[in-house]
Amino acid sequence: MADSSSSLRFSTRCVHVGVNKDTLFNSCTTPIYTSSTYYWNDLKTNSGYDYTRSANPTRKALEENISALEGGVGAQATATGMAAITTTMHLFAPHDHIIAGNDIYGGTYRLFADVFTKMGLRFSFVDMGNLDAVRAAIEPDTKCIWIETPSNPLLNLVDIEALTAIAREHNLLSIADNTFLSPYLQRPFEMGVDIVVHSTTKYLNGHSDVVGGCVVSRTQENAAKVAYIVNALGLGCSPFDAFLVLRGVKTLGPRMEAHQKGAMALARMLDAHPQVEKVYYPGLETHPDHELAKRQQDGFGGMVSFDIKGGRPAAERMFAKIRIFQLAESLGGIESLIEYPETMSHASMTLEARRAAGISESTIRISVGIEDPEDLIADMKQALEG
Ligand SMILES: *Cc1c(COP(=O)(O)O)cnc(C)c1O
Repeated sequence: MADSSSSLRFSTRCVHVGVNKDTLFNSCTTPIYTSSTYYWNDLKTNSGYDYTRSANPTRKALEENISALEGGVGAQATATGMAAITTTMHLFAPHDHIIAGNDIYGGTYRLFADVFTKMGLRFSFVDMGNLDAVRAAIEPDTKCIWIETPSNPLLNLVDIEALTAIAREHNLLSIADNTFLSPYLQRPFEMGVDIVVHSTTKYLNGHSDVVGGCVVSRTQENAAKVAYIVNALGLGCSPFDAFLVLRGVKTLGPRMEAHQKGAMALARMLDAHPQVEKVYYPGLETHPDHELAKRQQDGFGGMVSFDIKGGRPAAERMFAKIRIFQLAESLGGIESLIEYPETMSHASMTLEARRAAGISESTIRISVGIEDPEDLIADMKQALEG
């Protein structure tokens, strides 16, 4: 099978790109090359690899695969999603200014507002749904618009095309965190984004057994800069982790279909349930960004959040009764997870910041797995009604 043939359809690329690597024994899967170093043929030539921090054949296979799925020209696979985001921040210099949403992933917020602020980068966190607020935040030293959609945990969307139009107008780099939907459901490059980052920990790996990240570039120029940074900082992922993510990504299409089928069924049940105050799922016609989701996404994804009636005591009763859904953070794995943003995923935010973002003591977030939706619905009903 040809390697990065862009004529292949999405799920064929998932299975085949970067995979057929072994010319020695014709292994159908990509071997794990653990070697830290590679011998040279002579003083001038080697196999294309010299040291695993710089590049590794197993990692390269994964990078080719993810790059082909996003439609980029190159990718770097990193140790974590945060390492991927850290990589992109090194494209900037002290005093550079970056505009990001006020409801971005908590770890990203901490990295921006604390770590990189201490190193001299400057950030404005704005309501990205309000394009006038985005425009008003632009300063002479603004260099980047940071896009994350849908948001966590309330699944608000931002209009990627509108934001990249503003970025182009002001000569800003646009970077999108595409973790929540994966390239199966959303391809930011097609909407003008320059760089895409992922936590491969989530849907790309999909089996909750590795942490990883990647940075994908739309242009050779950015791909070269990103590769330089990953090597210089030593942020690349291990060959073992690359192997696991490459194995996981092969089933991305069928998994995403199953995730969103379950999510839609669960969202509809919750929406009609007397114990539920409000459901947050872009697939529901009542979701404020439903039309935008239909326009810029190929599906509505596997994340569903809701507000339970009766606040924290009701939430505690539900969590004590739920069986199939595991009480855990993270998302994107084949098993359904349920969590309480107030004390778990969003506990690092201040109380005021949580309330301003719309997260209350009633808010519950679910990562819908690929189990039979009828079992998930029955479990959720007994937990709400018990
Ligand atoms: C999990 C996550 C990250 C961070 O990834 P890690 O692999 O945990 O470092 C970044 N962005 C989003 C949207 C995430 O969900």
